Amino acid sequence: MSSAFIECISLSKYFNGRNQITKAVDEVNLSINRNEFILIKGRSGAGKSTLLNLMCGLDRPTRGDVIIENEYINKLSNQIMSRLLLKKIGIIFQNFNLLPTYTVYENIEIALDPTTTDSGRNERIIAPLLEQLELTDKVNSLPSELSMGQQQKVAIARTLVKQPSIIFADEPTGSVDEETAKEIIQHLLFLKNERNVTLVVSTHGNALDSFADRILLMNKGKIIN
Ligand code: ADP
Repeated sequence: MSSAFIECISLSKYFNGRNQITKAVDEVNLSINRNEFILIKGRSGAGKSTLLNLMCGLDRPTRGDVIIENEYINKLSNQIMSRLLLKKIGIIFQNFNLLPTYTVYENIEIALDPTTTDSGRNERIIAPLLEQLELTDKVNSLPSELSMGQQQKVAIARTLVKQPSIIFADEPTGSVDEETAKEIIQHLLFLKNERNVTLVVSTHGNALDSFADRILLMNKGKIIN
């Protein structure tokens, strides 16, 4: 058995267009250790989002495997996969994926296990997080009433409440100002250093370079260094 925490073996995702096949991810081999901060860089269209989606089990590969803690995740049923997603994996999307008719509080609450019988639990978990992210006064706001940076922080809070051991983040600083980007980086580093989280982050910019343990460069579906 491999000692890698996350492993991609000959991982490929091809999209069939009308005239051509796009090799969005093409025979990628990759080993990530526990608690590493991996940055996946590359120009727009290089395949970063597709690779992240495959690694976190949101998409299924055309060929190859993703192994997380010795589990072949692309061979799991959707039901078991969703349990893994709920328990172990946190995902921060580029467009935040907040529910537009839910308040800030409700958007975070949906990430928590709904079967609890402890009526005060959600409040106890969510309130300090909102304070830490300086969102306490927005608790009853809708996503549309927030700035991009605040929306991104809600998306991060939604991921944090689950206490995941891996976070996949697709361009987490892509659509926020520099100040908010710094805050987001601080939160990610806190998770890595204090909570032992493994971070796999995609970006096309350079703002995160100095924080990463390893930078992988993607081009045309391949990791080129
Ligand atoms: P990046 O995140 O680096 O910008 P993507 O992974 O989004 O790159 O895209 C990689 C390539 O795959 C691009 O050429 C893109 O057009 C193509 N692609 C991504 N998703 C799809 C899809 N659902 N259908 C067809 N082509 C896609």
